[in-house]
Amino acid sequence: MLKELIDKYYLDKQKDKEQKSFYISEAGKCARQIFFKFKNAPRREMEANILRLFDHGDSIHKLIMKPLLSTRDIHVVCSEIDIPPQELVRGRADAIISDGRNLYVLDIKSMNSMIFRNLTKPKEENINQIQLYLHYFKIPRGILLYVDKDKLGLKEFTVLYNKTQVEKLLSDLSVLKKDIDSNIVPVRLPDYPGNWQCQYCQFRQICGLGAASKMDWQELKEKIQRINSSET
Ligand code: SF4
Repeated sequence: MLKELIDKYYLDKQKDKEQKSFYISEAGKCARQIFFKFKNAPRREMEANILRLFDHGDSIHKLIMKPLLSTRDIHVVCSEIDIPPQELVRGRADAIISDGRNLYVLDIKSMNSMIFRNLTKPKEENINQIQLYLHYFKIPRGILLYVDKDKLGLKEFTVLYNKTQVEKLLSDLSVLKKDIDSNIVPVRLPDYPGNWQCQYCQFRQICGLGAASKMDWQELKEKIQRINSSET
């Protein structure tokens, strides 16, 4: 009884999630997947336990912030802070901290023990995200703090602002915005379906129905509808 109720709570939260603007965590990720989210394309539903894991990540963030908020060696300038509002992208950094000399944007990421054990450098997608925080907050340094959510070990990496990288990320998002507005499905990832993003992608099935190159969304939508109606 309780399992069903709890699962329903999480499953209901993911219904009809049509996206209206870019999330900062999407910078540098598969453009086609983001396009499908904006179009609310048919997707494979996430299982309730995966959705609970996202919530678990939030509680780990609180656990990490507790000692930072109580120590005198670091000053937490603010936590859970939104980037300044603008048209392209929205996002919320975990914290801005100061060591008395420099400000840092802090981004906390949790992962399972196996991934944590093999982590020797920050993940590319996390660097992309923190680069945009550094850009919008005009702070030249950031810290990516990784938490092993099974054993609660920590690893940290300092990231310095990289203007060229930020310009490329923002330019790619602007191109994607134009594709979304003109109903052009972006290209597939060149290493589809082996790319890690494809492994977790809720749109993998409809992605495979389309061409690998850019294509008309209406054409793909009609194909999806034809296949869905022939299966029912
Ligand atoms: S399956 Fe891979 S290439 Fe296709 S939308 Fe998903 S992440 Fe992108």
